Amino acid sequence: MSSAPDELKLKISEIFASVQGEGRSAGADAVFLRLAMCNLRCDWCDTRYSWDFANFRYDDEVDELDISAVEAQLTATDSPPGSHLVITGGEPLLQQPALEALLARLDSELFVELETNGTLAPSEAIATRVNQFNVSPKLDNSKEPERRRLISSSLDALRRTDKAWLKLVVEGEQEHDEIETLVSRFDWPKERVLLMPQAAQRSVLERRAPQVQQLARSLGLGYSPRLHIERWGGRRGV
Ligand code: SF4
Repeated sequence: MSSAPDELKLKISEIFASVQGEGRSAGADAVFLRLAMCNLRCDWCDTRYSWDFANFRYDDEVDELDISAVEAQLTATDSPPGSHLVITGGEPLLQQPALEALLARLDSELFVELETNGTLAPSEAIATRVNQFNVSPKLDNSKEPERRRLISSSLDALRRTDKAWLKLVVEGEQEHDEIETLVSRFDWPKERVLLMPQAAQRSVLERRAPQVQQLARSLGLGYSPRLHIERWGGRRGV
């Protein structure tokens, strides 16, 4: 028997107030809801604690909370009025039924961003409620095979929402052709594509950022900063 919506649980990695550090809304006040579990295993993943339970203890890292408890924690965060809700992961679209139930309870005026690796299509309810999808399909530098990281039907469904921005994690100009091919293959409007340096530390970000900015200019694409790394060196939960 399936659960009633309010009895569904979300697997939560962390909830905290901060600023959106990346993508189209970089700089906006935000409450982060990081959901646990991911269907990819990117080589440079900086949130392994949300899914890598061979190296992190599930019981230490994940809270399985019912929807009302998640709502209470979101409401209790010390965030300024007008803050966005940023649903991230892991891969949040792995938990769509419970996520739908949570979104249905939240203020309809709340601006909701959802960050996804683009391998799963959103349900109609999620596609309707989310204000902005930050879609990050992985390049070859993730060391994931293409058949796992690029799923055409899911990327097409996200693009068709007309509120999805691509955020590609890039290491350098050697990825020029790969990026150009990906953007054209998935017919993504260039004005909704951002390149972001792959970096987990400030020193790496400083080295890669100028090259990635130049690459974005040469491809006619946008650039995304990484404010959390600039400000806090990638420290967790800020
Ligand atoms: S998709 Fe995101 S959360 Fe999942 S392994 Fe890759 S970088 Fe990490």
